[in-house]
Amino acid sequence: MLKRERDREKKIAFERISYLIERAQIYRTIDYDLARRYVELAKKISMKYRVRIPRKYKLLFCNRCLYPYRFNHFRVRIHKSSIIITCLNCSNIRRFQLRDGK
Ligand SMILES: [Zn+2]
Repeated sequence: MLKRERDREKKIAFERISYLIERAQIYRTIDYDLARRYVELAKKISMKYRVRIPRKYKLLFCNRCLYPYRFNHFRVRIHKSSIIITCLNCSNIRRFQLRDGK
């Protein structure tokens, strides 16, 4: 495959991921399972085309059960300059380190 074509594919894949995750954000309060489906599709596209999901989107859903974080379905704690996000659907725990002094 030509290099130029691959670049174009990646760009399209990236656009699709952004679109799907934004849809998931809209639907998470309307249809939670449909929102999960959008995240699932976004994840599949990212794996197929080897496109990274941007960090700002990664923080919007659980990495294990793929349900978008929604009020009453997740918990955020800050402990010693790190953020701890607990998913209440599958009790998956994620930690994010905050930079020193910020
Ligand atoms: Zn989860």
